[in-house]
Amino acid sequence: MKAESVHQIRLLDLQEIDTRLDQLDHRARNLPEIAEVQRLDARITELHERVVAAETELSDLGREQRKAESDVEQVRNRAERDSKRLDSGQVSSPKELENLQSEIASLHQRQSELEEVVLDVMERREAAEQRRAQRQQELDSVRAERDEVEERRSSTLLEIEADRASASDRRARVVADLPQDLLDFYTKLREQYAGVGAAALHYGRCEGCKLALSPAELADIRHAPDDEVRRCEQCQRILVRTSSSGL
Ligand SMILES: [Zn+2]
Repeated sequence: MKAESVHQIRLLDLQEIDTRLDQLDHRARNLPEIAEVQRLDARITELHERVVAAETELSDLGREQRKAESDVEQVRNRAERDSKRLDSGQVSSPKELENLQSEIASLHQRQSELEEVVLDVMERREAAEQRRAQRQQELDSVRAERDEVEERRSSTLLEIEADRASASDRRARVVADLPQDLLDFYTKLREQYAGVGAAALHYGRCEGCKLALSPAELADIRHAPDDEVRRCEQCQRILVRTSSSGL
């Protein structure tokens, strides 16, 4: 293939820009914030489940407390009814009076036992409320951390996007300077050889594969016309001669 020396040299600018674009893509895909957000999301799911479990426990205890309070209420009402009957003087049989007094005594005993149950449930409920609040706080703080990381990710992506846009502008200008056949050839080689289609010959060494050319190859290149597109024998990439090729 033939291409003016100035176009071949211009191809090196295109390679540099394409390499830069590849690096920006790689960076955008591999931002540490991406993995960090995933980790925090998993943590949020776990903490949210723990909050829900604490809320369920709390609502169970609330039900248990209402039940215990209603048990106390029932026993108290019954004792009051019995006391009223006793005070009314309607009960005259000594046997019946004795039964009534004994029932009132046992109801009072029962009431204080049930009141103990209420107190116990209230204590457990208080502890459960503390647990719930603590878990909620932890969840809130992880969510805030996630938001921060997410914001950092977004702003870094914006920077990368701005760099991409300016590199793309430069790329369009360089491409406009190049003949289509050279461009196509370069594009094909770039796809084939890990993103590098053209490399400079720098003081006897190919910048694509970093290997030194043999004296025979150098001699061959030295005598080749300027507009002949050469390729590195080692890596097959377009080998561009510049003022610092050492020929
Ligand atoms: Zn090479």
